[in-house]
Amino acid sequence: MQKFFIFFLLIIITTSSLSQNIQRPKLVVGIVVDQMRWDFLYRYYARYAENGGFKKLLHQGFSCENTMIPYAPTVTACGHTCIYTGSVPAITGITGNLWWDFELQKSVYCTEDASVKTVGNNTESGLQSPRNLLTTTICDELRLATNFRSKVIGIALKDRGGILPAGHSANAAYWYDLKTGDWITSTYYMNDLPAWVKNINAQKSVDNYYKQGWNTLYPLNSYVQSTPDEKSYENKTFGADAKGFPYNLNKFIGNNYNVVEATPFGNTLTAELAKAAITNEQLGTDSITDFLAVSFSATDYVGHSFGPNSVETEDTYLRLDKDLGEFLNFLDSKIGKDQYLVFLSSDHGVAHVPAFAIENKIPAGNINQQTLYNKMNADLKRKFGKDGLLITIENYQVSLNLPLIQSSSLKLDEIKSYLLDYLSKQEGIAQAVDLENIISTALNAKQKEMLINGYYPTRCGQIQLIFQPQWIPDFLSGGTTHGVWNPYDAHIPLLWYGWGIKPGKLNREVYMTDIAPTIAALLHIQMPSGSVGNVITEIMK
Ligand SMILES: [Zn+2]
Repeated sequence: MQKFFIFFLLIIITTSSLSQNIQRPKLVVGIVVDQMRWDFLYRYYARYAENGGFKKLLHQGFSCENTMIPYAPTVTACGHTCIYTGSVPAITGITGNLWWDFELQKSVYCTEDASVKTVGNNTESGLQSPRNLLTTTICDELRLATNFRSKVIGIALKDRGGILPAGHSANAAYWYDLKTGDWITSTYYMNDLPAWVKNINAQKSVDNYYKQGWNTLYPLNSYVQSTPDEKSYENKTFGADAKGFPYNLNKFIGNNYNVVEATPFGNTLTAELAKAAITNEQLGTDSITDFLAVSFSATDYVGHSFGPNSVETEDTYLRLDKDLGEFLNFLDSKIGKDQYLVFLSSDHGVAHVPAFAIENKIPAGNINQQTLYNKMNADLKRKFGKDGLLITIENYQVSLNLPLIQSSSLKLDEIKSYLLDYLSKQEGIAQAVDLENIISTALNAKQKEMLINGYYPTRCGQIQLIFQPQWIPDFLSGGTTHGVWNPYDAHIPLLWYGWGIKPGKLNREVYMTDIAPTIAALLHIQMPSGSVGNVITEIMK
């Protein structure tokens, strides 16, 4: 009798502990909007759709209004890495999209990997993997936490926008091959594309978007948040003969798969692949949480070409709002309302087009880096008697030829102090800093902290250039860029929505590094291996 009693007691205990399993969403969807400044949430607010993406996230979700990037350079690879690792370039080793590597003595692209092959076509566009990333991402931690039963997929037009977030142990990352218009991957992940990706590639829907052309969603004269179309400082992305809206894209059909990236349709293609991945890989259909990391890259290409004050950028955000709204509706019907967790952020912001700023009496300018490089190299030769003492100016840093300096027994300190003096006197450069001695340099504390967070010695230059506000490198004939410490590059949106999220707004300052540890806390999993962020507790139900 007693035996039976204990037996039943055991059954009760085991079943009740089963029903008290850790609660997790069925699916986490991370959305990065490439080059989206925080103020774009409000700049175009009046025309975001009531049932679109941004207003839904703002009103039914939680917005961290003052989310800052805590490092420089504020570029794509570092941004995607930081969001998903909760860490900074000084720890992740991802110090730029491209860097001069002093160990390898060569220029390295953030996701390049010569040991893998392209899957999906015969180009070299797929020789990519996350191997240069030194830490785990939140997606790796989810995989580890569930003994690899969670599915993780990364998707973006840009290889680095899908690969770095998805992490080392991802099931797949897909990116867009601008030579062929195909979605591809690499042998790092698999040896053959899944049938559903092949089917999408066979449709070549990019040609349909070219056929349709790019006209504005609303009458052109209603774009009151933008300068009139066709300013001389916009890039001629669609050819020298393109005369503004409406853009006829017929000439690109079947021969140019590249320019779609600088249209809102690049984002639509990405959303289509994201939806197909959820359906065909059955993401979010069982009790094991899956993770889809999506990045919308087209906003960045449009922004670089036309600038944040252009009709092109405004129209791209109005269209992205619609795509996001549809995507959220799709998640509601496929996964179930409140069964999935969404966050939306950006990898960096953007500066105004310098010529636009100057036209409106705002201090700004361009620095021709090639001219600067040539002049410095020639000066160094005259002064120190050696050619090629300079290697690159990349990520606002000057990399010196350390092996040459060593072998010719020149004094590194003398070369550095000559350059620091020279660079500080150049128009548009506020300060040049010896990165090794940054601690003892008189520099604003915010700038100092951001630069130290970006400094991984063997993947960084020796001298850091700090430009004056709104001064940018290159883009001499038009367009703009990003990458510096200033708020226009470093203040990003951060929206949370769905499972476990309490609607609301937070005005205290939080950081890009806080995103991954907050997801870790929501999911009850370990923080990524290099995380330095803090949990944003206010968003939680
Ligand atoms: Zn960019």
